[in-house]
Amino acid sequence: MNASPPSPAQVIHALSAGNARFREARSIHPHATASRLHQLPKGQHPHAAVLSCSDSRVAVELLFDSGFGDLFVIRNAGNTCTPGSLASVEYAVEALNVPLVLVMGHSGCGAVGAACTPGHQLTPSLIKHVGHIHKDLEQAGLQFNDAADRNRAYGLNAELAAQELIRSSALIQERLQQGQLEVHAACFELESLEVRWLGPQSVAAGD
Ligand SMILES: [Zn+2]
Repeated sequence: MNASPPSPAQVIHALSAGNARFREARSIHPHATASRLHQLPKGQHPHAAVLSCSDSRVAVELLFDSGFGDLFVIRNAGNTCTPGSLASVEYAVEALNVPLVLVMGHSGCGAVGAACTPGHQLTPSLIKHVGHIHKDLEQAGLQFNDAADRNRAYGLNAELAAQELIRSSALIQERLQQGQLEVHAACFELESLEVRWLGPQSVAAGD
């Protein structure tokens, strides 16, 4: 029998503690050995689904000091809500029963930077991808010519992607209403190595 999943607050507490160990060079590298993986041949029970950026500096398991079987991680440039990332998050919620979905952006994100400063030479796919981020930030009122606002864009983009996941998924909305799930946003600060939590995300009814 599987134990009941931890609460969202317990998962956030554990992730915060792992990130504190990582940035203070006290990582214990739990669940990182072959023997751990040998214990998991029949299935997985991760405690959170994390949608993050593909950026090579945002190695999610390492910066939360976690290991095999702990986190269900989805990554794409700019941690956006795409059909693939939404379906992956829904799988983690429906089949793996995760109590927490975290969308985590990061400072210095190239995709968000490109979305804030149009004019880069981009392929058609990237133009579409970055254009989606730009449009969402613009609709949220971000001033692209304001330096402070551009700094705010990394976290704001994560919040907007989290809200889009909720808006796009009847399953996620249902689990939120039942109190079985929380969707949070965060921003990983590359300079301090700190994961800055931005709070639970929601959308207005009918939004
Ligand atoms: Zn990035």
